[in-house]
Amino acid sequence: MALIVQKYGGTSVGSVERIQAVAQRVCKSVNAGNSLVVVVSAMGKTTDGLVKLAYEISPTPNRREMDMLLSTGEQVTIALLSMALQECGQAAISMTGAQVGIVTEATHTKARILQISTERIQQHLQEGKVVVVAGFQGISSTANLEITTLGRGGSDTSAVALAAALGADYCEIYTDVPGILTTDPRLVPEAQLMAEITSDEMLELASLGAKVLHPRAVEIARNYGVPLVVRSSWSDAPGTWVRSTRPPERSLINLELARPVDAIEFDTNQARVALLRVPDRPGVAASLFGEISRQNVDVDLIIQSIHEGNTNDIAFTVMTPILPKAEAVAAAIAPALSNPGEHGSDTAEVMVKSDIAKVSIAGAGMIGRPGVAAKMFATLAEAGVNIRMISTSEVKVSCVVDVCDCDRAVSALSQAFEITSSPIRSVVDIHPGKNTGKPPVRGVALDQNQARIAIRHVPDKPGMAAKLFGLLAEKTISVDMIIQSQRCHIINGVPTRDIAFTVARMDALAAQEMLITAGKEYGWGEVVLDQEISKVSIVGAGMVGQPGVAAKMFTALAQNQINIQMIATSEIKISCVVSQSEGVKALQVIHAAFGLAGSEKFVVPA
Ligand code: ADP
Ligand code: ASP
Ligand code: MG
Repeated sequence: MALIVQKYGGTSVGSVERIQAVAQRVCKSVNAGNSLVVVVSAMGKTTDGLVKLAYEISPTPNRREMDMLLSTGEQVTIALLSMALQECGQAAISMTGAQVGIVTEATHTKARILQISTERIQQHLQEGKVVVVAGFQGISSTANLEITTLGRGGSDTSAVALAAALGADYCEIYTDVPGILTTDPRLVPEAQLMAEITSDEMLELASLGAKVLHPRAVEIARNYGVPLVVRSSWSDAPGTWVRSTRPPERSLINLELARPVDAIEFDTNQARVALLRVPDRPGVAASLFGEISRQNVDVDLIIQSIHEGNTNDIAFTVMTPILPKAEAVAAAIAPALSNPGEHGSDTAEVMVKSDIAKVSIAGAGMIGRPGVAAKMFATLAEAGVNIRMISTSEVKVSCVVDVCDCDRAVSALSQAFEITSSPIRSVVDIHPGKNTGKPPVRGVALDQNQARIAIRHVPDKPGMAAKLFGLLAEKTISVDMIIQSQRCHIINGVPTRDIAFTVARMDALAAQEMLITAGKEYGWGEVVLDQEISKVSIVGAGMVGQPGVAAKMFTALAQNQINIQMIATSEIKISCVVSQSEGVKALQVIHAAFGLAGSEKFVVPA
């Protein structure tokens, strides 16, 4: 007999008929001999409706009251599903987050789970009942019982956290698609179902906009080794398994808070090539990286900063031994990338630097915790280490530093993040082999809820990135895709660089306002906000060591005249910012370029 946690999303419980169908499915599993805890979302679009009501009353609704309001949606579903189960002759009991004892941080509207009491659930299960739990909600402490919610889409997180706390055999997420597909079938009906995906890949996909799973649910599954499957509540198809390697034993106290950083990684075998002042038009990144991949040069980090006037800077890192080859390719292509007509001599310039190292902090626990990147920058600044390049993904922040600073950087970071010697890994240990035979790209994701902020002329001295991102962290604003420009401007004798990053669109205005005020104190220039962007990303563990993946993505965009505004990479993903109006098209052409389309078309239930 297995203990299973099942979760049903909004569409799966969107009507009385759907709730009855769910009750049938639950009964079938119980009759097969299993014990069931069932987590449900609010019916259909109930939560959206409640949010709308709140904004009709206030443009800035009080967060405590927002949680009070939103938590009601799930409460309706638990009662109705329990009644439906009882009608089928199955004993069942509904429980709110407070009744279970799902204790979270006190941060309203985006609380993280600290601890879950399991005694009451266990008691009901022993009495032969199905326990129906309200997803997405908790309480701030058993003493003051403030209702909290986990953030939109958070019922997945409730389910996986319950599975971890109960030591369930597995967790099933039932939704309106047959599993995890190569991309969102609403945008690309030819998307294909995957039988399985690694939790590392799914973490990136979920954080980059694939809303089929809440990223924090994947984080918990990975940290606690919870077997997780996504399936359709309309069929008996097997769905997609999210696979995690067996993690070390971990305490269930501070479930979502312990250890934002699991490991520190470094690579001292890196060199950087930068092309300054290349034209800001479609096709430039494609021709550069196309040529590089034809020469079989494998690039690691790629960064393209925001354009200034009508030019961009593109920088990438390679392994030191192939620097001469990479430099030769860049130098050969530079004249073709010059900017005709601009100030006569506005030619693209190639700059190389060997003797650099990449130092990264990695860990799923940094998702949605803005203070983590800021702490890394502050730690490096205190150790007197200057950051030459920054590249981020949701689960990793990498900084390029001088090789002579690498040891100091690693030891300062391991102290700051309390990482003992074993998880400090050289990149050689992590990705020893090349061409693993895996497909380079598993999935493509689109995030249309981001905005870009560019800060001009940030004084280039240690500590500035730490200050800037520290200020954002204080306001609990999470940033993504941080990019520091390669170009240096001297303003009143002080060398400066531009820094650009993306934030959730709902945080954008507050971030801009705060940064304009802070700029007066810290001496940076204009703070430019662009809300009209989308971010399109490819993810796949197989892209490590396979040249040509970036070139293929950039070429697909270029062939469709889509201009790339920013590029940021990690080992297993490449993200490009494009204009908002071109986002869906970008997703479609990239999905097709990697041959991910299948012959069947998916129709998502209304
Ligand atoms: P639920 O209400 O069941 O939690 P969600 O709407 O939160 O469902 O998530 C399911 C939706 O996620 C699908 O209907 C689909 O449009 C979207 N989606 C985005 N990316 C993917 C993907 N890679 N695979 C499957 N679905 C995806
Ligand atoms: N009802 C919540 C939402 O719509 C939580 C969830 O469905 O996961 O965001
Ligand atoms: Mg969901």
